[in-house]
Amino acid sequence: MPKICVLDGDGIGPEIVAQALRVLERIGERFGRTFTFEHALIGGCAIDAVGGPLPEETVNACRGSHAVLLGAVGGPQWDDLDPAIRPEKGLLGIRKELGLFANLRPARLFRELQDACYLRPDIAEKGLDVMVVRELTGGIYFGEPRGEETRDTGRVGYNTMIYHEHEIRRIGRVAFEAARKRRGRVCSVDKANVLDVSRVWRAVMREVAQEYPDVELSEMYVDNAAMQLVRDPSQFDVVVTGNLFGDVLSDEAAAITGSIGMLPSASLGDGGPGLYEPIHGSAPDIAGQNKANPLATILSVAMMLRHSLGMPEEADAVERAVETTLSQGLRTGDILQPGTRAVGCAEMGDAVLACV
Ligand code: NAD
Repeated sequence: MPKICVLDGDGIGPEIVAQALRVLERIGERFGRTFTFEHALIGGCAIDAVGGPLPEETVNACRGSHAVLLGAVGGPQWDDLDPAIRPEKGLLGIRKELGLFANLRPARLFRELQDACYLRPDIAEKGLDVMVVRELTGGIYFGEPRGEETRDTGRVGYNTMIYHEHEIRRIGRVAFEAARKRRGRVCSVDKANVLDVSRVWRAVMREVAQEYPDVELSEMYVDNAAMQLVRDPSQFDVVVTGNLFGDVLSDEAAAITGSIGMLPSASLGDGGPGLYEPIHGSAPDIAGQNKANPLATILSVAMMLRHSLGMPEEADAVERAVETTLSQGLRTGDILQPGTRAVGCAEMGDAVLACV
């Protein structure tokens, strides 16, 4: 019986998670599955309750589950705290505790939301459905040596971009596995024309590709990839890349869809529970007003079903229900367009539920 650890978090977190759990329970009824839920504290609400953003009980609850569903953390009332105990530390902490080295961010443009897309209509028309797989725990963000100092020539700052073979291999396998569940293509993005680290990256990725003869590997320099994402994103299926390049490209891919309230994400480790969350924050400006779009969180549940719980049909059913809801013209404020009907967070949840 799959056990889900639920981290509602702050701001709109509890509202959007509530709708996602209703959808999951409906999926359970339809497919004869029973999910159990354990709620735990993270972020600002944990600071208020127990004095820190990531209580030990939360870490244990996550470790004892098959998957973790998170709303969002943070809000202005905690902005002036010591950075060491701010809400965001809870998020970084749980990623570290669970060893989540792979971040999967699908950026998909739903046909009904094409008008929100920042790309030219003829480009948007060709479709945008890219999964950026970003390495999350290595590369230049963590490499040593790093530092700031004053030398004879003046002040210098430096970081080290380093990737170990095993780090490249494991993120590569996540990307190839993801491609198998999609359209069977991986594009590895690097800067092998300049960086030694990228040449090792490329060599290891080619080795990983040998393990997946059914998946096609292509390679692209990061500057070109940034351009191709806006020129013709329809050419990409899965993009796999390191921490720094992935940070930039995953935001670029998400931003061009124009719908932040629609985008889910997954962070995966080696065998343990994966963490699923919308890419947006806690939206304190609309919290508690039944205005939040719950679809990114509902789509995060679909990712959870597919990547952690081995239930692809259930995942498809959730995604289809979201598409049908959009085609009925229902919209929360963030994706409202002329000719569509405005609904609140709970009504949007009702509509998806009815479509499952
Ligand atoms: P945000 O994503 O919370 O909000 C940006 C804008 O998008 C706001 O106008 C908000 O109302 C809107 N928005 C976001 N999600 C929406 C949704 N589901 N439905 C409708 N509208 C939505 O980013 P921010 O304002 O920069 O940050 C607010 C707080 O969230 C900060 O404390 C920040 O640190 C935190 N944050 C948390 C996460 C996370 O938990 N993963 C990520 C980013 C920001």
